[in-house]
Amino acid sequence: MIGGNDRRANSLEARDVATILHPYTNPVVHEADGPLVLARGDGIHVIDSEGNRYVEALAGLFCASLGFSESRLVEAAHRQMQALPFYHSFGGRSHEPAIELSERLIAMAPVPMSKVFFANSGSEANDTAIKLVWYYHNAIGKPRKKKIISRQRAYHGVTVASASLTGLPYTHKAFDLPLAGILHTDCPSLYHHGLPGETEEQFATRCAQSLEALILGEDPDTIGAFFAEPLMASGGCIVPPATYYEKIQAVLRRYDILLIADEVICGFGRLGTLFGSEAFGLKPDMISMAKQLSAGYQPISALMVNETIYGAVREQGGAIGTFGHGFTYSGHPVATAVALETLRIYEERDILGHVRAVAPVMQAALDGLAGHPLVGDKRGMGLIGALEITSDKATKTPFDPALGVAAKVGKFAQARGVITRAMGDMIHLCPPLIITADEIRDVVAKIGGALDDTLSWLE
Ligand code: PLP
Repeated sequence: MIGGNDRRANSLEARDVATILHPYTNPVVHEADGPLVLARGDGIHVIDSEGNRYVEALAGLFCASLGFSESRLVEAAHRQMQALPFYHSFGGRSHEPAIELSERLIAMAPVPMSKVFFANSGSEANDTAIKLVWYYHNAIGKPRKKKIISRQRAYHGVTVASASLTGLPYTHKAFDLPLAGILHTDCPSLYHHGLPGETEEQFATRCAQSLEALILGEDPDTIGAFFAEPLMASGGCIVPPATYYEKIQAVLRRYDILLIADEVICGFGRLGTLFGSEAFGLKPDMISMAKQLSAGYQPISALMVNETIYGAVREQGGAIGTFGHGFTYSGHPVATAVALETLRIYEERDILGHVRAVAPVMQAALDGLAGHPLVGDKRGMGLIGALEITSDKATKTPFDPALGVAAKVGKFAQARGVITRAMGDMIHLCPPLIITADEIRDVVAKIGGALDDTLSWLE
């Protein structure tokens, strides 16, 4: 039975419902529906506990770039487990995988970077960046310059500070967030916020003017940093309008505001460039990354900082007596060894070249669904895309959320053997980077079928 609704006593499904609090899951619906229990992976496929096979068209959570059975990553983990399964990097301790990974990341960086700080998740990398914005401004004698701006619909994580950066209501509601001093400016979605007849450039100008008005209203001497995901992925696959970052960065430079690029999803080839910053001309002071850094096989994230930031951290840490920040598993040997092997595979197999070759197939196939009666907008770039579900194409009116229409498309797609992610009114597609052109056509055709199924269900 697809969907794993087997609720016999002592079944995995029943034991799950009895014991697990699931992230980003409606607990009431979960108690009724139960989990989908996955048993194993095979290339771009995952297989559930009942033997049903699905294409994982979201690469898990935008991370399993090399699919679900890459033996070289398993072997790299095994070798490192045998040599040195754990060590930390506090008090100047180190090991070769972390050193080599840092060297590689600095060499790959889209702008000159000085040092790499390792953590375990995207949220922790962004939390670290927030702390460094504060630490840096204290070090340079600007202790008022602490407020941070991100954007509506942004996704930067779930820890107290990174959830505050996130600009989605359900990460704040009832959690007493966002923290004071974390502000949100406009989401650069032309589809949602453009005026009738407005060009991309005109809309970009308006976004930059709105950012500047926010900065001036708050007092520029109190604004320390701006966070941006080059292409907003979870927030709706929002491709920035032409000239957006050019104009935003001009505003940031005018008021001496740091830029942090969140490359947690865009990094390592997703957009057909090594980093999303390259695709849109971002010149960040810090870059956070995770997910495809280890192809999702190990929990690891990294924050790269430039020489200006590092210089201030060096002075401040030296004066205080230590840089008082770090996680037990920062630079974990197994995680860094797997990340290193992942980067080697990307290079040896020219994964970037492959993405550039197959991305047009995916974008064209998704464009082919843009005319479907349920699709209000198709957005995408490289190997990421989204379809926005609407009840009225002309007025862009969404369906009543209570109907759960996008979720229904996701369910029908799953019944056809494709796992995607329905978020709000959107169906997201972000397959493993190793997907072939034929597999892409098959996945998108099945999503088209799921849209038809949904249309029939609505009638
Ligand atoms: N930043 C971006 C752009 C993300 O998409 C995510 C997670 O999806 C995060 C940060 C948070 O990463 P994590 O879930 O590893 O904490």
